[in-house]
Amino acid sequence: METPGSQTSLHRANLERVVRAVRMAGSLTQAEIARSTGLSAATVSNIVRELKEGGTVEVTPTSAGGRRARSVSLSGDAGIVVGVDFGHTHLRVAVGNLAHQVIAEEAEPLDVDASSEEGFGRAQRLVERLIGATGIGQDKVIGVGLGVPGPIDVESGTLGSTSILPGWKGINPREELAGRLGVPVHVDNDANLGALGELVWGSGRGVRDLAYIKVADGVGAGLVIDGRIYRGPGGTAGEIGHITLDESGPVCRCGNRGCLETFTAARYVLPLLRPGHGPDLTMEGMVGLAQEGDPGCRRVVADIGRHIGSGVANLCNLLNPSRVVLGGPLAEAGELVLAPIRDSVSRYAIPSAARQLSVLPGALGGRAEVLGALALVLSEMGDSTLLESALPTKGPAFT
Ligand SMILES: [Zn+2]
Repeated sequence: METPGSQTSLHRANLERVVRAVRMAGSLTQAEIARSTGLSAATVSNIVRELKEGGTVEVTPTSAGGRRARSVSLSGDAGIVVGVDFGHTHLRVAVGNLAHQVIAEEAEPLDVDASSEEGFGRAQRLVERLIGATGIGQDKVIGVGLGVPGPIDVESGTLGSTSILPGWKGINPREELAGRLGVPVHVDNDANLGALGELVWGSGRGVRDLAYIKVADGVGAGLVIDGRIYRGPGGTAGEIGHITLDESGPVCRCGNRGCLETFTAARYVLPLLRPGHGPDLTMEGMVGLAQEGDPGCRRVVADIGRHIGSGVANLCNLLNPSRVVLGGPLAEAGELVLAPIRDSVSRYAIPSAARQLSVLPGALGGRAEVLGALALVLSEMGDSTLLESALPTKGPAFT
């Protein structure tokens, strides 16, 4: 047993701080590690040397601001992480290493509502096939991140609503996948994973406070506060879709009236365009037509932007995020939707909160959730596993 406060436990804590900083950033120079951990340059240098000798990190020459520097990342051989994303119509799996490199990725169509047995069976086969193709042993898998298209109780791993995925009734998605793959599984909803994916790999890189908003059939949002997903005790934080914009507006599926969702989600806005564009118009189709100059689609896209902007203004006043990332099909509309969002934010948010905000389209498209599932494992895995698996003085992590 190590005594808290002893030299050994202090050293151990410093090792973990450095590993944690690099784990979420992908790679950092030694100066950046010193800044983000608060450790001195000399301490960082000693720790990096020790971690490199133990095989936990790799150090490569780079340049920072025109000066020579050393870039530190977790060793690609230290372990692999797997992301599994169940969308409403697809299954996507990615395999990555701890240096933030995606080694393998594949998607296939899947009617996720149909049968949980089929869905999890196909996920298991796809994961095993992709890991097999990398040539890396399955014993190197540190964990699996699982994304589901609906609210989930992160503590118990159960679905928050059985109406969203009726074919999954009575299933605990985390236990189901963990049982099939024999590795720890971390689970979260698609909006939270989209937020994490953009934070680590996409338009949120470099910030620690971010709101990710995805408008599709419904409106979902994921909040990152100080580098971590904020879920709230019930796991429902970020329900921006049900902010009231108009008390006498349309009745929402939640039972209230005039929620943000009723002015922005596909099921409410696409019918507005039916007279001129037929019943088969999709969100993607509307965005494409708007870009070609169709006046009705342009107007609806701009209105969606204005309404999202009202919700974002509320978020700004409450949380003061430095970045809002728009995901889902609307992100493809670019300035057609982003400019009205910014306009509403500047109109309704307090100026000091709006000034520091940038509103950007997501950079990852349909990959945001599966990359977020990889990031979830990186975020939740804990550093002792990694240090114990890599430091030569310690025993193996997997027995
Ligand atoms: Zn509502």
